[in-house]
Amino acid sequence: MNDSVFDRRRFLAASSAIAAGVLVGAPAIGRAANPHVLPALPYGDSGLEPVISAKTIGFHYGKHHKGYVDNLNKLVAGTELADQPLAKVVAATAGNADKVAIFNNAAQVWNHTFYWNGMKPGGGGKPAGEIGKRIDQDFGSFENFRKEFVGAALGQFGSGWAWLATDGRSLKVVKTLNAENPMTQGLKPLLTIDVWEHAYYLDYQNRRKDFVEASLDRLVNWAFAERNLKTQGTPPGPGGNVQ
Ligand code: FE
Repeated sequence: MNDSVFDRRRFLAASSAIAAGVLVGAPAIGRAANPHVLPALPYGDSGLEPVISAKTIGFHYGKHHKGYVDNLNKLVAGTELADQPLAKVVAATAGNADKVAIFNNAAQVWNHTFYWNGMKPGGGGKPAGEIGKRIDQDFGSFENFRKEFVGAALGQFGSGWAWLATDGRSLKVVKTLNAENPMTQGLKPLLTIDVWEHAYYLDYQNRRKDFVEASLDRLVNWAFAERNLKTQGTPPGPGGNVQ
């Protein structure tokens, strides 16, 4: 799927999908058995080669991302969150010590779907358009942005994510730990790179920097980031519309 065909609605639907034909459980309220689904990748398993191998995609998407979806469905089954769309589950459980497992799995489903759509075959490099203009304006140059982003990705100790986000006024590079997402800090994500070891270890072993630089230079889908920049003016916050 190319940029022009990418359908953001599919991502939105993924967060709230109740697959037709799987309505079981309490018939009186029609609760879905597995309300969350694993969204299709926007490219094939080998679409990001040679930067990210089909083997990595097979495990990362096919096992890890799917695992978060499966875990989330088990965790919300029979709870008041069972019928909530993904984005609402993330917002409702953020910072709630009693709901850490649900938050972790819900946020990881959201983060991974966002990550996959932020990459594309033949992407990367210096962006044009509004996003390129804003990067120049807010970081001084694309090179400064790239340096800051790589620094954040390398500076995230252990597992986490590096993000380009906005507070509605300027663009920012942020890093988050484990499943955390800038939305819970009131920031709107525009783009992310997964820096959990499962994202790169098969291809790069401990060379996280090489993985991040190659992703920035050859995979980033800047049109996706620009669409996110333009979708709404107000950054979402906890409890708000986290899409
Ligand atoms: Fe991951």
